[in-house]
Formats: sequence, structure tokens, C-alpha cells
Amino acid sequence: MDMDDAERRAQRVKGKGKGPSATKIVGIMPVHVGGKLLDLEQLERFANSHKLWVVEDSAHAFPAGFRRSDGSWAQRSNGSKSVTCYSFYANKTITTGEGGMAVTSNAKLAERMRLMSLHGLSADAWGRFSTNGNWDYKIVAPGYKYNLTDIAAAIGIHQLRRAETMRRERESIALRYSEALAAVAEIELPPPADAERIGSIPGTSLQSSCA
Ligand SMILES: *Cc1c(COP(=O)(O)O)cnc(C)c1O
Repeated sequence: MDMDDAERRAQRVKGKGKGPSATKIVGIMPVHVGGKLLDLEQLERFANSHKLWVVEDSAHAFPAGFRRSDGSWAQRSNGSKSVTCYSFYANKTITTGEGGMAVTSNAKLAERMRLMSLHGLSADAWGRFSTNGNWDYKIVAPGYKYNLTDIAAAIGIHQLRRAETMRRERESIALRYSEALAAVAEIELPPPADAERIGSIPGTSLQSSCA
């Protein structure tokens, strides 16, 4: 996504229409294509200035990192109105066969997402039937059936351990293609990633965080 273009479009829409029919931008849904994260700081500046929700499509972008100006690495945009979505479908960077994950730093929103993902139930099966659980539950909202199964999660946790190894493998394959095809004038290659800002998170804690 071209953030300068997004800004131009946002300006163009501003003030269009009146009353209930006025055009109002409420959010932005950037897609991080091919493991290349957008400039997250530029995205955050844009979203903050227009008070927008950010729903990141990171289906291609796990476990890619983005280095902020202060030198720290991030995997998603920051903010209380930000949600990042990953896909674990069969052809993704890690897979559980089918399924995905939505991540947010907003605790209230996370709770709402948890509730809505499982029929609007106040407690999941673990909360109801495990030793310290309580069988009582309420249906507090007309929810959906968007939960990842525990069986899929059991596959995912092992995929997570291999995420960085598989990422390096893809990187080396991509490099091989880039080098081999560099001289073919008819082929337009994707721009090389800025290694300073996009890539692997040094000393990645992925392995230890799911041990
Ligand atoms: C695969 C993919 C999706 C859809 O993911 P599902 O888990 O199949 O819903 C969305 N966006 C991008 C960029 C993808 O590659």
C-alpha cells in the first residue's frame, strides 16, 4: 500500500456529503505482501492523524519484522485501535491446515473477539469442563464460529518453532531467483527488501516463547 496515495485519497473524501450520507473513513486495511511489512511508523502516523482503526492483513508476513527508528523491531503496528490478522491456511508461512489468528494489544477488544469467535459464549469448553472450570455459561452476544480448533493449535505450536528456519529458507530461495533472473530484461522483480528495516528479528524469541 502506498501511504502517500492513501493520504491523498483521505483528503479527497474529507467533507464529502452531508449529515448521515457524509463519507466517513473509519479504518485502513493494509496488506503486508510477500513478507515485506509496510513502514509501520508511517502507517501509525496516518491512522492516528485520521483516528482510524487499523486491520492489518499479515497473512504473508509472519514472522517478518520491521525496524522502528529507535532501533527496536516490531511485527505489527502499535495502538489501541489496531488488529493484526494472520492466516494459517495450507500455503502460508506457518500452517495449521486451515485457520488463523487475530492479535491486538487492546485487552477489551481481545476479550470481545474471544467472545464473538465462539458463539458469544461467556466460557469456552476448557473454562467449563476442566478441573477448576464451571459448567455454567451464558450466551451474551450473537456470536460467530471463528475459533481455531485445539487440534489445529497443537499443529501450530510446532510450526511456530520452525517459523524462523522456514523463513530463512524462503529468503535464500528468493535470493537465488533474484540473482538468476536479474539479467532478464522482460522480468520485473520485486524490489529488494531494505535489510536494515525489514527482515528477521535478531535473537528471535519465537523458539523460546512457545517452548
Ligand atoms: C491467504 C490470504 C488471506 C486469506 O487467509 P484465509 O486464512 O484463507 O482466510 C488473506 N490475505 C492474504 C494476503 C492472503 O495471502
